[in-house]
Amino acid sequence: MSSQNKCPDCGSLEIVEDSHYSQNQLVCADCGFILTEGLLTTTFADEEHLQEVTYSRSTGQKEQQSRCLQRGIKRVRDLCKILRLPSLFEDTAVTYYQQAIKRPCFGLISLERKEIIVGCCVFVTCRQHNWPLTMATICLLLYANKELFARTYLRFLKELAIDVPVLSLIDLVKTHLSSFKLCQKAPSIPPKFVEDKEQLVARTVQMVELASETWLVTGRHPIPIVTAAAYLAWQSLRPVDRLTCTLSQFCKLAGTDVPQPAHLRLKELHNILLQMSSQLGWLRVLKVNRKTVVKYVGDLLQHRRVLLRAAFRVVESTEGYGADGSAAEAPQRLIEENNDSHPEEEQNCGSKRAPLLPPCILNPAKKLRTPDTNPEDSAVTGDEGISDREIEQYIRTPEEKEMFSKAQACL
Ligand SMILES: [Zn+2]
Repeated sequence: MSSQNKCPDCGSLEIVEDSHYSQNQLVCADCGFILTEGLLTTTFADEEHLQEVTYSRSTGQKEQQSRCLQRGIKRVRDLCKILRLPSLFEDTAVTYYQQAIKRPCFGLISLERKEIIVGCCVFVTCRQHNWPLTMATICLLLYANKELFARTYLRFLKELAIDVPVLSLIDLVKTHLSSFKLCQKAPSIPPKFVEDKEQLVARTVQMVELASETWLVTGRHPIPIVTAAAYLAWQSLRPVDRLTCTLSQFCKLAGTDVPQPAHLRLKELHNILLQMSSQLGWLRVLKVNRKTVVKYVGDLLQHRRVLLRAAFRVVESTEGYGADGSAAEAPQRLIEENNDSHPEEEQNCGSKRAPLLPPCILNPAKKLRTPDTNPEDSAVTGDEGISDREIEQYIRTPEEKEMFSKAQACL
């Protein structure tokens, strides 16, 4: 190979290999001209002249930035391995990381936020493959602040223009329940509380689907719903022994935390089940209540589509929503309708059907917002005169000044 080389400086053919800092170089034996230095002469035009090209010139990137990128890529790969994701995910997440770091807005952010970007890449990849990873898990692994993560995540989605599918609840049920200790026999768990995992998952999935169809899922955190659904499913699979076990006890046995809103979700699910049971003649006779309805969950779930259609009236949500801010009127009207129907419904056991609406519309926590724009307010142009009296009320009087300076002196 060296015999073909010719020194560009003196034209000598005496080219020898010389090792310099563990890198082999081709050096002219006559004049000492260095023909190659390392192996970095791959892309640049100087290659023809066999001259050294620095790393940054050959790649067009500053070494400093690149080191940071390499570190980030390694973190992405590590995180994927810790989460035991398929290797395909790893490459996608790395691609996202490379794209994100190139953006000017993410180029100069703090290391903490760069670490969050690592999490965002993995999180987005999981979502796109319907892999049930929650934001809380990522935050836990990265020791990241949840609010900062959420903020960065939204920015990340916007910058990269990524479309993210919503979390697949069914997959989440499977992974969340696999951590439950109730599915294996253990000395700490009474035998009557041990449940077959397949059966528990199947019924919980049905419960979650029911919740989803009755507006209990949209806009809510998924884990509390899954927890409440799993509890109901578990109870209903052996009601005689498990009716007395509360949600908190259930979570303790399962070895998970009770997410705060799970109790509310449970109450909402109970209400839906009661509404559905009012459609079945034999359950109406039994006068089921919140506690006993659990016994019939199997029956109710089996016919859930028919029962839901019979128990609830579908509300055209868009009706009455005007473009000129009259939107607030529509829920108000629906609630009045609902309140009117309520006593009647209790007497006749569902002869008049309740509307199928999200709980936040059926039970608004506060008084409904009145439209902000009064017609009188909007008439103000901003060109009106301002009287001196109006301005003077914002200026301290001499007495007030004196009192203020006295108070400051005391401090
Ligand atoms: Zn030479």
